[in-house]
Amino acid sequence: MSEQGTIYFVGAGPGAADLITVRGARLLREADVVVYAGSLVDRELVQAYAPQAQVYDSAGMALTEIITAMLDGVTAGKRVVRLHTGDPSIYGAIQEQMAALDRLGVGYQVVPGVTSAFAAAAALKQELTLPEVSQTVIITRVEGRTPVPEREALRSLATHGATLALYLSVGMIDAVVAELLAGGAYTPATPVAVVSKASWTDEQIVTGCLGNIAARIAAADITKQAMILVGEVLGVRQAGVQAASKLYDETFSHGCRNGLVA
Ligand code: SAH
Repeated sequence: MSEQGTIYFVGAGPGAADLITVRGARLLREADVVVYAGSLVDRELVQAYAPQAQVYDSAGMALTEIITAMLDGVTAGKRVVRLHTGDPSIYGAIQEQMAALDRLGVGYQVVPGVTSAFAAAAALKQELTLPEVSQTVIITRVEGRTPVPEREALRSLATHGATLALYLSVGMIDAVVAELLAGGAYTPATPVAVVSKASWTDEQIVTGCLGNIAARIAAADITKQAMILVGEVLGVRQAGVQAASKLYDETFSHGCRNGLVA
């Protein structure tokens, strides 16, 4: 049972209605009020679990309006769920909402969800951490209207050659590629996969390498809601080998390796 007077921040998962957690689904079923990010969470997911609830789409709401809607709900004794896409802790803007609730003395809990980087990896049937290839996954984004601290600039993260999961960046793919190449560890031949709307019915996958991915996603007309995964782990299957030491074989015969030599 959800606790009276508590607001639940719930991760909806990447899109597919059955990729929400069991706990999240239960809280949604019990909810009287649901505030969800309509631009990213499928309305059908809300309909499936909370058909009776009063629903607010936060896409067009300011922070104060969101807080007011949630506060009005709990004050009236209703059960309130704040539904976020993926996992709420990743680019979820939940901290400011929790701070406002702290000031108001309203209790809340957070329920995690499947973040889109992992839904993208699943769509690709890809492990992100392979022995001797990369044991590190960096979750980041290119700088857009939201600033990124200088020490975390993409070109500096790109010095490691780790697996990268880039959120909120597909609209700036040219800048992403330029920054990653400037880092030194990646080359135009480094494998890249872009997964648009992972786990949705209109999911799209585009693969390539840093040298050609911009043209490929332009051709596929992918401009938003896509995950960019970068790193040599993605090349292992294409190379058709098990051992990391064979990664640099002639086996990248899909055009990327040639780009490297040229
Ligand atoms: N909290 C969310 C991320 C919100 S930021 C999460 O954990 O996934 C929004 C960005 O997430 C989008 O720009 C896109 O990069 C990514 N994203 C969200 N849903 C996605 C999906 N189904 N497939 C691919 N990328 C997705």
